[in-house]
Amino acid sequence: MSTEVAEGSVRHLDHSGLHLARPDGSTVTVPLLALRDRCDCASCSHPSGQRLLDPAAFPTDLAATVVAVDDGFLRLHWTPEGHHSTYALAELLADPPAADDVLPWDAGAADRLAVGDHQQITADGEAGSRALLDWLRGVAAMGCGVLTGVPTLDGEVARVAELFGFVRETNYGRWFDVWAQADPTNLANTSLGLPPHTDNPYRDPVPTMQLLHCHQSSAAGGDNVLVDGFRVAAELRTLDPDGFAQLAGRAVSFAYRDAGASLTTTAPIIDLDVAGNVRGVRFNHRSLQQLPLPTNPAESEQLSVWYRGYTHFARLVADPRFHLFVHLRPGDLFIVDNRRVLHGRTAYEAGGGSRHLQGCYADVDGLRSTIAVLQHRLDAAADDR
Ligand SMILES: [Zn+2]
Repeated sequence: MSTEVAEGSVRHLDHSGLHLARPDGSTVTVPLLALRDRCDCASCSHPSGQRLLDPAAFPTDLAATVVAVDDGFLRLHWTPEGHHSTYALAELLADPPAADDVLPWDAGAADRLAVGDHQQITADGEAGSRALLDWLRGVAAMGCGVLTGVPTLDGEVARVAELFGFVRETNYGRWFDVWAQADPTNLANTSLGLPPHTDNPYRDPVPTMQLLHCHQSSAAGGDNVLVDGFRVAAELRTLDPDGFAQLAGRAVSFAYRDAGASLTTTAPIIDLDVAGNVRGVRFNHRSLQQLPLPTNPAESEQLSVWYRGYTHFARLVADPRFHLFVHLRPGDLFIVDNRRVLHGRTAYEAGGGSRHLQGCYADVDGLRSTIAVLQHRLDAAADDR
């Protein structure tokens, strides 16, 4: 089977696929299965946008012939199905959408931090939607943000999470208190300083968003610090590539136990996507479990490099060059992408005043969805005018 088509960018069609001339003069072959799967006719695609095709039903002897190429459209006839498909050539030749740029940040980024106003982002109508969209966009871009003027009511932090998504309820409850306790099971509930960390690395999956809402902050100290884990990981990758590779390539265990919970999971400190880009970090020495000791020289060398990378990563996290300080007053709240941004606090004087925060977890898919829905609504409203 080979169909010669002289017109435009379509060169020919054969058993390997559709051969196209790209605008830059190069040629490319779209495999037949990929082409068949792109059919968006009414029997292949539901009006909802969901697809009706069953990949198990694609014939193993799939073949096609060109019916026509005209007005920028390619029409194919598929055998042995007897199906017809129409494709816009511009879509077949379009460049794939660019991935969102991630802009790492450091201590100098204070003026870029997304600061929203609770009254504005909860206002009715287009102004409220616009304010909420702007704030959420800022949070998505930097992996963190601040909201001011949040009423200091019990559980209000969970209602803020519901402005963009759904609360991730855990063994700590729908929301939880953070304050100095007499007999704490978690170091968060002491007046000790906490080095920057990600939360709940012992969960599978980890909560992807965390919110902390300040109710009282009259104690001296207790300032919050945020660190871009992507920025720190990039620094480590440059300074110690082997240490970085160990942190990304070795799964370690994290655990949390109290009377009512026994949580444990295994994952690397640095999580890479298939392209090798940093997708997340899990860094919380409080709940890291001991690594197995080596039983041969190769394991000994690997453990040595892992610890070199881990301690280097910890020193970078502790380096003020990367620290963004957030001083929360009552009514202020910060939100972090818990896979990207580490948060910590300085020690405070438990006897010299009070410090009380409430926190909750949520997930980043809800945040992204709300950004897309708000944008769509505002675009549609603009089109109506
Ligand atoms: Zn179809």
